[in-house]
Amino acid sequence: MSDDSTTKKSNFIRQIIDRDNASGKHGGRVATRFPPEPNGYLHIGHAKSICLNFGVARDYGGTCNLRFDDTNPEKEDLEFSRAIERDIRWLGFEWEELLHASDYFEQLYQYAEELISKDLAYVDQLSAEEMRQFRGTLKEPGRNSPYRDRPVEESMDLFRRMRAGEFEDGEMVLRAKIDMAAPNINMRDPVIYRIKRMEHQRSGDAWCIYPMYDFTHCISDALEGITHSLCTLEFEDHRPLYDWVLDNITVDCHPQQIEFARLDILYAVTSKRKLKQLVDEGHVEGWDDPRMVTLSGIRRRGYPPDAIREFCDRIGISKAENKVELSVLEGVARDSLSHSARRVMAVLKPIKVVLTNYPEGQVEEMECPYHPQRPELGSRKMPFSRELYIEQDDFMEDPPRKYFRLKPGGAVRLRYGYIIDCQEVIKDDNGQVVELRCTYDPDTRSGTGTSDRKVKGTIHWVSADHAVDATVRVYDRLFVRAQPADGKEGKDFLEYLNPDSLEVLTDCKLEASMSNVQPEDHFQFERLGYFVADVKDHQPDAPVFNRTVSLRDSWAKIEQQQKQGG
Ligand code: ATP
Ligand code: MG
Repeated sequence: MSDDSTTKKSNFIRQIIDRDNASGKHGGRVATRFPPEPNGYLHIGHAKSICLNFGVARDYGGTCNLRFDDTNPEKEDLEFSRAIERDIRWLGFEWEELLHASDYFEQLYQYAEELISKDLAYVDQLSAEEMRQFRGTLKEPGRNSPYRDRPVEESMDLFRRMRAGEFEDGEMVLRAKIDMAAPNINMRDPVIYRIKRMEHQRSGDAWCIYPMYDFTHCISDALEGITHSLCTLEFEDHRPLYDWVLDNITVDCHPQQIEFARLDILYAVTSKRKLKQLVDEGHVEGWDDPRMVTLSGIRRRGYPPDAIREFCDRIGISKAENKVELSVLEGVARDSLSHSARRVMAVLKPIKVVLTNYPEGQVEEMECPYHPQRPELGSRKMPFSRELYIEQDDFMEDPPRKYFRLKPGGAVRLRYGYIIDCQEVIKDDNGQVVELRCTYDPDTRSGTGTSDRKVKGTIHWVSADHAVDATVRVYDRLFVRAQPADGKEGKDFLEYLNPDSLEVLTDCKLEASMSNVQPEDHFQFERLGYFVADVKDHQPDAPVFNRTVSLRDSWAKIEQQQKQGG
C-alpha cells in the first residue's frame, strides 16, 4: 500500500484515507469516482482530478468509476463523452465501471418522493424572479415561500404530476425544506428538481423533470458505494447540502466529500466555457488544437502521458491556491522526451551550402547514434554529399564578436561530418543570401579524421539530395497575459490572445531517415527542440510535425542568445 519505493507523494487526502483505513471506517475499502460533465473536452485541470482519483484507487487497491454527470440535457453531446473516455485511457487509467448519473433517474425520483413524504421537500410555485427575491443575501436571511407549508399530500400530488408532464417548463420546482435563514445560501431551500422538456441523450423523452446537480451527485456517490468523494474547493459550501441529503434519505452509504484546490495554468484558460468559445469562434482549430490545454490538444502537441502524470504528481494536492506556470509542464515534458525521443537532424529554415571541393555525385554515409546516452536506441546512416542545407540562423554575414557559427571566411563543424570553411556568399537581386560556397576539410571527418583542427561551433545539416520535405508548426503560448480571464484590466480574455502563437514553416528539410515516420512518433530535432508527427495531418510521404517544446526555456531567449553569439 504505502511502503514500496514507487509510493507517490503523500497529501492530506491520502492521510485521511490512511486514518480511515486504520480505523476501519469503510472496512478498509477505497472507492473513488471521476465525474465529468460531458459538455466539453477534458483539460489539464481535469488531469489533476483524474490522477488523484484514479491514482488513489490504484495505490490503495481500490476502485475508481468514470461517471458522466449528465443530468443537464441542454449542453451534452456524445462527441464529448467519447473524447473524455479516450483522454482518460490515454493518460493511462482504466475505470472500474462506466456509469451515468442519468442511470439513476428513477432512484433519484424515488428519493425525492421520500423527502416529500418526510416533509423535507415541497413543490414551490414562486417564479424564478420571486425566488431570487425570497432567497435573501449574504447579509440578510431569506424569507419562506408561501408554498413552503403546503401539505405533504399536495406536494406529493404536484410532484407526481410534474413528472407526468402536466405543467409547463418553469411553472413549479421541487425544493428541499431546510432553512431559509441559513448563513450558507446553498442551504436556503435549494431547488432539487425542475421541469424541462428536452430530449436527453440517454433517456430520450422519458423525463420532463430533471434533478439538480447537488441532489444528484451525493446520491450517485452513495449508490456506487464511493468512500471518498474528491472534488474542487468551490464545492466546499455545498458539502452541508451533500450531507443533509444523504442524512435524510434511506441509503446505507455516506461518502465523505473532501475538497482540494483546482489547478490553474498561467498563460492559458481552463474553463470549458472559455475553451468552447475559443473553438466555436475559430480562434483555434478545434478542441485538439496543439495550443489548447485540453488533454487532446496537449496530446497532439506531443506531450507524453507520463509527463502529464509526473506533472500532476509534482504539483501535488492541497487546499492552497494552485496556479502553475506553463513552463513547469514544459519542463516535465522535456525531461520525459529527452530520455525517450530519438535525436535526428532537421533544418527548419534552410539555406543551401555547396561544398565546392567535394566530388560531384559522391555520397558518404555517416554513422549517427540516435541517442548519446542510450546506445540501445541504435543508430542510422546519414548521407553526406556536395550540397547540404544548414539553418539560416547558423550563418551571419556580419556577426558580433564571439559568434561561433558560420560567417564569411569562418569555419564550423558539421555534426558527425567535416569542418567546412565559408569561401563565398551568393545573394539574389534583393541582396538576400541564397547560397554559401564552402570547402570541406577532408581530414576532419568526425571520429576518423586525422587532423587535430578544432573549431568552436558545431551545427546541424542535412544532405540536399536526400532531404525529406516537411511542414513544421512552431507553437507559442496562446495568451500574452498570465491570467487572461481575471478581468482585472476590464478586458475580455480574448483580447489577450497571442497573435504569434502559431508559425507554420513549409520549407523544412529533414534528414533522409525521416521518410517513414508514423503519426505521434516523437523526435528531438538536434539543437531545436522536441517534435511530434501530427496525429491528424502527418503522412509518411508528406510529413507534418508539431513542435512540442523547445530545448531550453523559451524560443525567444534562444534566438536572442544566438543573435548575440551566445
Ligand atoms: P470547468 O470549470 O472547466 O467547466 P467543471 O468543474 O465544470 O470544469 P466537470 O466536468 O464537472 O468540469 O469536472 C469533473 C471533475 O474535474 C470535477 O470533480 C471537478 O472538480 C474536476 N475539475 C475540473 N476542473 C478542474 C481543475 N481546474 N483542477 C482540478 N480539478 C478540476
Ligand atoms: Mg462541473
